[in-house]
Amino acid sequence: GRSCNADEVIVVGGGIGGLTTALALARGGRPVLVLERADAFTEIGAGLQLAPNATRVLDRLGVLERVVAAGVLPRRLVFHSALSGRELTHLDLGDACRERYGGPYVVLHRSDLLAILVDACRAAGVALENGRHVVSVTDEPDRAVVTCADGAAYEGALAVGADGLRSGVRSRFSDDEPVCSGYVAYRGAVPMEQVSGAGELHDVRVWFGPGLHLVQYPLRTGSLFNQVAVFRSPRHAAGDTEWGTPDELDEVFSATCAQVREAVPALWRHMRWPMYDREPLDTWAAGRTVLLGDAAHPMLQYLAQGACQAIEDAVALVRALDGAAGGLGAALKTYEEQRVPRTTRVQRTARVWGDIWHVEGVAALLRDELFVQRRPDDHRHVDWLYGTAAG
Ligand code: FAD
Repeated sequence: GRSCNADEVIVVGGGIGGLTTALALARGGRPVLVLERADAFTEIGAGLQLAPNATRVLDRLGVLERVVAAGVLPRRLVFHSALSGRELTHLDLGDACRERYGGPYVVLHRSDLLAILVDACRAAGVALENGRHVVSVTDEPDRAVVTCADGAAYEGALAVGADGLRSGVRSRFSDDEPVCSGYVAYRGAVPMEQVSGAGELHDVRVWFGPGLHLVQYPLRTGSLFNQVAVFRSPRHAAGDTEWGTPDELDEVFSATCAQVREAVPALWRHMRWPMYDREPLDTWAAGRTVLLGDAAHPMLQYLAQGACQAIEDAVALVRALDGAAGGLGAALKTYEEQRVPRTTRVQRTARVWGDIWHVEGVAALLRDELFVQRRPDDHRHVDWLYGTAAG
């Protein structure tokens, strides 16, 4: 064991969700300890989109300036048909968007964001420990007890389960399993000059077609080009356990237009990400334990909101703890009541949004027609997501 601080909050998992939470707690004057299983705080070397609903929070936490300096402010989110290459519609992400939603839309390298959060946590006095594989979180009447695989035990006032899609802390609340979508993602962030036809790239571009899509955007002041290619695996659909392999990637994308096909060689082929989410959960808090981020609400990435929602969770939790007259139980209830309906909607909408991107036949024709007819200043599909209504 370790000498304990009865007021300390113990955060299990040092990803974007856990570190943002630790920072928000520490800025509010609380002692915080983060226990991370990996030997270092790292993220994969690919890109991340942060919408205004997340950047507003990062601003309040005092790190937005660094995030913007490390990232790129894209001008537009542009949707194309992956088959014809036709531009269908776009959303302005520039100044007008920033004004409307009170925060910029930023794309940046995941490792840059993590480094900024780690630095800010250190400066705010957060205790950060690596190589701590948490194996149990239990409640005593007056404290939470967190135990690691090496036997180390920690006691604090509250344990926050920010341990991701395969959360162990979540098993306190549900015996559910991640749901496999049958889709797989390939990523790659490569020097801009390695990408043929990258050209003028200040936008986030999405190309969609039957059972597939490609997302592209620049990183690090435009020196890197980030791409994510996603497709439904025919072999997964056929029940094969070896699925989503690079030969399937090539096969599926051979049906797309030249600009999309040209993107494929720049993707990393030695790694792939089969895509999972989970069904929404209505209880995230019990006793002195609470869930946050992907541990609470893992989602398909089509709205680019998983990390954004984790960042929203972080401030909502701290606000609930600060505002609680009725003690910890009431505070956690407030957090849950505020967050569950919102993240449930985002999880469900992400699935539907993916279906809209991936349809084929007549449905795809109708989708394309609706996209083309949409007025570029029509924000009704994103106001609920990027706006301030949720706090
Ligand atoms: P994680 O990042 O999974 O972090 C969990 C941490 O807990 C890890 O560091 C892990 O090592 C640690 N851990 C796990 N178990 C233990 C344990 N037992 N003990 C100690 N530590 C433990 N979101 C966006 O907002 N914008 C995007 O553009 C976007 N694009 C995406 C693209 C792809 C292809 C994918 C797959 C996802 C994307 N997401 C995006 C989603 C986003 O990556 C996640 O929602 C987000 O990273 C979740 O953060 P988290 O901190 O909750 O969980």
